[in-house]
Amino acid sequence: MQLQDKVAFVTGSASGIGKEIAIVYAREGAKVVIADMNKEAADATAAELNASGGRALGVAVDVTNEDQVNAAVDLAASSFGGIDVLVSNAGIQIVHPVEDFTFAEWKKMLAIHLDGAFLTTRACLKHMYAQGRGGSVIYMGSVHSKEASLLKAPYVTAKHGLIGLCKTVAKEGAKHKVRANVICPGFVRTPLVEKQIPEQAKTLGISEDEVIRNVMLKETVDGEFTTTDDVARVALLFAAFPTSALTGQSLVVSHGWFMQ
Ligand code: NAD
Repeated sequence: MQLQDKVAFVTGSASGIGKEIAIVYAREGAKVVIADMNKEAADATAAELNASGGRALGVAVDVTNEDQVNAAVDLAASSFGGIDVLVSNAGIQIVHPVEDFTFAEWKKMLAIHLDGAFLTTRACLKHMYAQGRGGSVIYMGSVHSKEASLLKAPYVTAKHGLIGLCKTVAKEGAKHKVRANVICPGFVRTPLVEKQIPEQAKTLGISEDEVIRNVMLKETVDGEFTTTDDVARVALLFAAFPTSALTGQSLVVSHGWFMQ
């Protein structure tokens, strides 16, 4: 049990990568807050975890809404006894060439990925600092925190930005024993990616199979997707690591697509 009785606030955890992280954290003894704008799915995920012996709470929250974030984090802390781990994971994808993005789409992407990360970080740090028992802040970056791809200007911009936020939180949080790190996955077959396959095929004028082989997995060492389990293992490492030796870092888990 690497996270016995720790309280983890995981955004976007009603689906995909976040859900797998919630499952792994609960298995490791954590009390997990399923914070997602999809209330029904958040409650269902929490019920699933509770039915299998975990301790979970579903909370409806839009990470771009300051009041909702503050209320959700305060509710989580009062229900479970503080906050030890934040996984800022909620995200979406919109793909177009730069010249076709509307300003509204650009702002929506930056709001979810960057405003969401800032708001949840600020709300959780307040509890972590007051509790005096340290903490771990984990941002869901991407290979796109390090590398660009066609059609993804706001996503690449926001994911690069998370590295800056992480490094600052790592420096400021150190005196409170709060660590901050970024996970940078390659393509994982979640609903977020399933949606992109036909969209990219249409925009690039190629087949869906070609999108998978020649766009998404082309640079990997073995032509394989990264899995939610691969990402959750890294999220467990960052959450459970015992000292500030591991802070301000970003770890790429991508089947070798991007090598540092
Ligand atoms: P997903 O679509 O399966 O899950 C995303 C979850 O976030 C959903 O449950 C959704 O309801 C929630 N969400 C979206 N907007 C929200 C908001 N404003 N407030 C609260 N919740 C919101 O996607 P996923 O693939 O699991 O992606 C999770 C994270 O991982 C994202 O940040 C994404 O950028 C990142 N990521 C994904 C991949 C991949 O290939 N799937 C690769 C690298 C990074």
